[in-house]
Amino acid sequence: MPYACPNCRNRMRFYRIEQYPVAVKLDPQTGEMMEQVSPDDPLLIPYRGEMVRMQCGVCGIAENESVFAKRGQQTSLQHHAQNVQQPFISKTMNIGQHQLLPPAAMSDNRSNINKQFRL
Ligand SMILES: [Zn+2]
Repeated sequence: MPYACPNCRNRMRFYRIEQYPVAVKLDPQTGEMMEQVSPDDPLLIPYRGEMVRMQCGVCGIAENESVFAKRGQQTSLQHHAQNVQQPFISKTMNIGQHQLLPPAAMSDNRSNINKQFRL
């Protein structure tokens, strides 16, 4: 799944912050950890935060992973739309020159084109 920063256009450099919530009981006076809370504790509601947070390695904004994933999907659709046209043009040129590229070489070209757009 491609990721993209919703703020800048970075698609490659990220911090992936995995979060492992631990339910703890703290001493109300000192704040010291007394024990871990059992998941069966009737007063304990389940953790509702995100498990993975991402920070853009270029501009530094931090968001829920899904924000980066959604943005990545949107921009990869745009990239795909650009790629649909480019091979079509090069294909017709190649037919004229009798130099049809095999599909593997074409997809290599495509990934090179993508790399140029990435930061
Ligand atoms: Zn960014």
